[in-house]
Amino acid sequence: MARYIGPVCKICRREAQKLYLKGERCFTEKCAVVRRPYPPGQHGQRRLKLSEYGLRLREKQKMRRLYGLLEKQFAGYYSQATGLKGRTGEEMLGLIERRLDNVLYRMGFAASRAQGRQLARHNHILINGKRVNIPSYRVSPNDKIEIREKSRKIAYLQAALAQSETRPKPSWMDVDKDNFSGVFRSMPVRDEMNEPMIREQYVVEYYSR
Ligand code: SF4
Repeated sequence: MARYIGPVCKICRREAQKLYLKGERCFTEKCAVVRRPYPPGQHGQRRLKLSEYGLRLREKQKMRRLYGLLEKQFAGYYSQATGLKGRTGEEMLGLIERRLDNVLYRMGFAASRAQGRQLARHNHILINGKRVNIPSYRVSPNDKIEIREKSRKIAYLQAALAQSETRPKPSWMDVDKDNFSGVFRSMPVRDEMNEPMIREQYVVEYYSR
């Protein structure tokens, strides 16, 4: 599956908030949202009033880019969520949160979701003892995620683990950093996913217009 390879700090500046796409740099003063807190481009500093449609479009773009997805894949999650029992927005968020690249980020094995994707693609991950190298793999409750033994000394993995100490620990997963493993216990809790703020209802309204 293709992925976005353009500049990422521009994305945060466009959404006017930190989306934590770069790992360690996001927590320093070098963060572009701190240094240049206005949208990118020649007319970035003009004041623009968003239309109702524009508001929903921006929210959709923000959520899509936060998780590092391209439009087709993101829209696919929306259509899967419409077939589920719960509220569409929350179901959509839940499906995306269960992606392997995101779970690796949440567990602290990666400094960003993009790095989580790299860990998976480069064959460093075992799920329930089996090698899985698909970033979009959907993790299920009670799945055990492990870093392969020969991959545990990777410098960026070690740095991510150290840096993750400062991030909030999601209640829906147990992580054993000493043994480079974690268990995805249950479905993600919506109330704990507030940083950055996502208004998934706007995303639903965007697609159902
Ligand atoms: Fe760049 Fe991270 Fe700051 Fe976003 S939060 S602008 S990705 S440094």
